[in-house]
This record gives sequence, C-alpha cells and structure tokens, in this order.
Amino acid sequence: MQPMRKMRGNMPVKAIVVIGETVLSFPEMCHSCGGCMEVCPEKAITETGRELGVIERGSKNGLEFVHGKLRVGEAMSPPLIRKVREYARPEALTIIDAPPGTSCPVITSMKGTDFVLLVTEPTPFGLHDLKLAVGAVNILNIPCGLIINRSDMGDDKVNIYAEKENLPILMEIPFDRKIAEAYSRGEMIVDVMPEWKEKFLELHHQIEEMSFHKNH
Ligand code: SF4
Repeated sequence: MQPMRKMRGNMPVKAIVVIGETVLSFPEMCHSCGGCMEVCPEKAITETGRELGVIERGSKNGLEFVHGKLRVGEAMSPPLIRKVREYARPEALTIIDAPPGTSCPVITSMKGTDFVLLVTEPTPFGLHDLKLAVGAVNILNIPCGLIINRSDMGDDKVNIYAEKENLPILMEIPFDRKIAEAYSRGEMIVDVMPEWKEKFLELHHQIEEMSFHKNH
C-alpha cells in the first residue's frame, strides 16, 4: 500500500481509519466530499449510493413546499439539505427553514443565501446561541437581521448586544397566548390575527432592501 498524498483539505471526519494493515470505513460518517478518492494513490476508493432519507413536495395557495426527511439513525443531513435546495427556483423567492445552532446542517442551509433572518429569545440562552450564530453568519459574509420572539419576557441584553453589533431588530413578537394556540394547531399567525399581515409584509420589504442580491 503506497502512502496517501496529503489531502488539500482535511478529511472532515474520520470516516476511513487505518489500524495496522487493516482499513476500516464508517460510511455513516462520510460527508461525500470526495477527498479520499482524489488522494488515494491506488485509486482503490469508489463512490456508491446510500439512502439518506426522502424528499417530499407539496403546494398550497400558489406556494411550493419541499422538505427532506432524514432516515432514522442517519447522522449526515447536509447532503439531503443540498438535495432539497436543488428544488429552489432562482427566479422565485425561497425561504429555507434552518435548524438552530452553528453545525454543518445550519451552514449548509445558510451558504449562498441572500439574507439570514436570526430568531432569538431575550434570555441568557438565547443570547449565547445568538452570538454563535452571528459569528457563523459573519464568516459567511451574509447580511442578517434579527427577530426577537417572546420579546416581552426575559431581559434586554439581546437588544444591547444587537445595538453594539449593528444588528437590526426587524421584528419583536410578544408572548401571546393566541399566537401559541395558533402555532400548536399548525395555523399561521396571519390567518388567526390578520393585524400581523402588514408587519410581515414590512419585514419582507426590509429583508429585500438589505439582501446580498440587492446590494451586489
Ligand atoms: S468522501 Fe472520503 S474524505 Fe470525504 S468524508 Fe467521505 S471518506 Fe472522508
């Protein structure tokens, strides 16, 4: 066995491990980056398919909806997220609902978008996660803004942080039983409380003005 050339990037995870003369592979850890195929001097590595989950599509009121359902036990969601994103039509407005945090699925969801809308709560936990998310968005160099959910609870540290970071607060949603009830029934705020429709239209307008696409 010849030694492998050094990979240009690093293997993102240890999906191939060599112990003595034995090579062990862990397909469930593989990120499909193709790096190992590129550097293997024996050309001994080939790609194969693996079911990660399913993609489901639907539409209502002229809106198209696409989502990916990860196979139970599957750890690698980024390839499925990339597949879901392939359904985005460049000429249409696309909203991607990203998971919280700053891990690979979040980065895969945010990468290449025109704007990131961060949603947080005015609590120490909310502020902690917000700081990490803002750090990730800044590295990706995407304009972003903030929605403070349950804005009338907790403290004002999120507002102070937002001001310091020049992070625009685009909307504050108070804790409201009617909103919570609608949410738990799977209904939209604008259907239950039509007075919110104007606010969301204004939010859309502000995002359009601040988006990467608009400013480049
Ligand atoms: S494609 Fe190869 S280098 Fe990339 S994560 Fe999978 S095993 Fe590692």
